[in-house]
Amino acid sequence: MDILPEDSPTWQYIEETARRVTRKYGFSEIRFPTFESTELFQRGVGGTTDVVQKEMYTFTDREGRSFTLRPEGTACVARSLIENGKCSDTMPLKLFYLINCFRYEKPQAGRSREFYQFGTEVFGSASALTDATLISLAHSFLTELGIKGVHLHINSIGCPECRPQYRDALKSYFASRKGELCETCLSRLDTNPMRILDCKSPICSGIAKDAPKTIDHLCPDCEAHFAALKSYLEAQDIPYTVDPSIVRGLDYYTRTVFEFIADGIGAQSTVCGGGRYDGLVSELGGPKLPACGFAMGITRLILAMEASGVTVEKPKGPLLYIAPLGESARVKALSIVSALRKSGIVAECDIVGRSLKAQMKYADKIGAEYTLMLGDSEIETGKANLKRMSDSTQSEVSLDGIESYLKTLRE
Ligand code: ATP
Ligand code: MG
Repeated sequence: MDILPEDSPTWQYIEETARRVTRKYGFSEIRFPTFESTELFQRGVGGTTDVVQKEMYTFTDREGRSFTLRPEGTACVARSLIENGKCSDTMPLKLFYLINCFRYEKPQAGRSREFYQFGTEVFGSASALTDATLISLAHSFLTELGIKGVHLHINSIGCPECRPQYRDALKSYFASRKGELCETCLSRLDTNPMRILDCKSPICSGIAKDAPKTIDHLCPDCEAHFAALKSYLEAQDIPYTVDPSIVRGLDYYTRTVFEFIADGIGAQSTVCGGGRYDGLVSELGGPKLPACGFAMGITRLILAMEASGVTVEKPKGPLLYIAPLGESARVKALSIVSALRKSGIVAECDIVGRSLKAQMKYADKIGAEYTLMLGDSEIETGKANLKRMSDSTQSEVSLDGIESYLKTLRE
């Protein structure tokens, strides 16, 4: 996707906020390749998920190996930790990333084929304290962005211990209403009945409303984990709703799953999705390493910011624009501007060779705070008129003293 210069301040603001908030929670950044072997996602995300079945950008390289543009980051991070021997580092490992992802789906508002995610992952803790801390990080990030009207929905989908018994209950419920299910859900009945809970068709989601709920089928350990999570959220004053319809689209989740859902941004209203995935690292050939994480779609964050009336300030124009006339003035302008930049002042001069009139028009357009015209006589006398653009007042400055003069203006 294209992110145009006029839009990049908003993107930078979101990225800076992500870096600042993760820093407060002691997270470090991880970067990893844009594509991975297709098998990683088949094993990591799960063969029966929509992402793997329908949404991957897969290609073969010159040696006939199958690769896939990353549809998400979690499996990539887990792969990277295993490959780099990080699973025996001091735990917990608290990581974040800002990446582009690729999914072959129908483009619409809040859904595109290349999109950006801000993601976090914590490895090496099975405690609900971790889930609650991650949710708190997401909550504080959304608050710092100024997003209002966003609601936290939580659920627990159990573990390999209690899942089979729940799957059976779900399967027999949906089997009893087989005739009403859509074709996709019919095929999900055998492969992954939990995915039916996620179906967007009004008939299937109507049937799903009365389906058995995961939270009614949790084993004692999962139940205790979920109860602890709720009390840790309450301790941090984070409001939540227990929502049995949240099951998440990816296979690797266990126990906690959660979403932050925003008002007023249309049908694609989940700005953040996450949960616990205690089985992923060992599934990918690593040790048993509990983990949990979340990912947010940046385009949806922008929609939610717009809906909340948040505007990001455009960067200011230069403090000084120098408009030279004639070749020796151009050389002088270049040397002044370069000295100013070295001392941290935002300054520009003409680099096109425009007429004086066109230069002043340009300086106005880019929002220069001050301008300075430089011709032969200014160079001779070593003095020039500094013009404040807001009210056209002029003051004489010596060319050697511009830097210290501008510095006093900034104080
Ligand atoms: P959805 O149900 O909205 O398709 P998902 O369950 O596929 O979401 P995840 O894989 O959990 O999404 O990704 C985390 C977040 O990334 C989502 O909550 C959303 O904000 C964003 N996201 C996912 N797919 C897209 C896309 N195609 N375009 C833009 N953002 C996306
Ligand atoms: Mg999706």
